Amino acid sequence: MTIKFPSRLIFSAFSLALLAGCGDKTTDTSENKQDSTVAGRAPVAMTAPKLEDTFKAEIDALSAHPQVKEAFQFIEDYDEQTIKTLITLTEIEAPPYKEKNRSDKYLSLLKEAGADSVWQDEVWNAIGLVKGTKRGKVLAFCAHLDTVFPEGTDTRVQQSGDTLKAPGISDDTRGLAILITIMKAIRKSGIQPENDILFIGNVGEEGQGDLRGAKYLFGPNGPKIDAFISVDGSGHESVTNQALGSHRYRITFQGPGGHSWGAFGLGNPHHALGRAINYFTDEADKFTRSGPKTNYNVGVISGGTSVNSIPFESIMEVDMRSESPESLVKVDTILQQAVRKALADQNKLKRHGPDLTVKIEMIGDRPSGEHPESMAIVQRGIAATQFVGGRPTLRRGSTDSNIPISKGIPAITIGGGGMGRNAHSLDEYFINKDGVLGIKRALLIVLAEVGIDDEMRIESR
Ligand SMILES: [Zn+2]
Repeated sequence: MTIKFPSRLIFSAFSLALLAGCGDKTTDTSENKQDSTVAGRAPVAMTAPKLEDTFKAEIDALSAHPQVKEAFQFIEDYDEQTIKTLITLTEIEAPPYKEKNRSDKYLSLLKEAGADSVWQDEVWNAIGLVKGTKRGKVLAFCAHLDTVFPEGTDTRVQQSGDTLKAPGISDDTRGLAILITIMKAIRKSGIQPENDILFIGNVGEEGQGDLRGAKYLFGPNGPKIDAFISVDGSGHESVTNQALGSHRYRITFQGPGGHSWGAFGLGNPHHALGRAINYFTDEADKFTRSGPKTNYNVGVISGGTSVNSIPFESIMEVDMRSESPESLVKVDTILQQAVRKALADQNKLKRHGPDLTVKIEMIGDRPSGEHPESMAIVQRGIAATQFVGGRPTLRRGSTDSNIPISKGIPAITIGGGGMGRNAHSLDEYFINKDGVLGIKRALLIVLAEVGIDDEMRIESR
């Protein structure tokens, strides 16, 4: 086997830097895609993390291991098939709460890739176990099955040149595809992990899913998990070690509804909703202009039946995030006050009929937290990024890692390599630009976490 690794890497890193124009983006363009999926949920503070010698040495030793070299070669040789897997999975719709079909397919891929056993849990997380020889610790290695797109969205992949376009292709079908490749690479190279790895296609990462797949995994009925890595989006440079907390609400103003002319004067839920948004955004804007980065967004508005009907309900969904738990509570309070004020004011304006009412439902609550740069899993992320020629950046994001991070369990989220753009839009696309670097990086971090059993390898030969 020939290893042409180092020179390739130097070239790749250089060409990526050129692509990015070396401007103030500070990372290659592919990484910014991961930003727009993972960290794009996340305002990003760029830092240059410090790599400790021990972890650099660990990754260097791992990458020089003969079987790891074989695994790297496999990843390169298998790259075309990785893209085929990506296309197959992308074309299986996976709307929020409707991930079952994709989960079923994923389960069969996990089995076919060489898992020792596979199963689905109650929420349709698809899980494949690769047993370790010592079986002391368990690493969960995840990518999320769900997309943000509703049922009926055309998910067929359109290929033009090197560009693969389809909703969800990068976020996070790319993650799902590389997990399969990595399991195969481990099997084909004969690597014997010392500790267990659970390869997981998990449900419910996006939006209203509210991390329910990850919450289940770390809940009372989930498996034992000692460390967690999720692959989300593309790129091979960022390491998300900080969990961005968020609150999400569905707010519904309700009234009797009626004819716009005949029942004129009834309380109008849409008018109340508009007023609420006005009050909320005025105050939230003032609050979020200083202090820790905090955002707010009215993302969905619905309700009403026709132009000449007073609606019986008006609904909005609101998302707020903050680096600081205190600021999150404050912007949340601003929203609640705005809604109540709008309701009171609108009820003063109505000329007859019952008062409007409002229902405030929390539909998302993602915990925050942060792992230090010095934590082993974070260091391994930094070391592996440098090894593949990337410039590591530590980030804050709203991902499945929020759950383990908030519980103090070692966890990071990384990109799956390549370059993705326009996540969460119908124009989402993926370009397999140096995608293998992301796969190799992920493999190295996983192997550093679980260890390789050399004695087993020698015995097995
Ligand atoms: Zn994602």
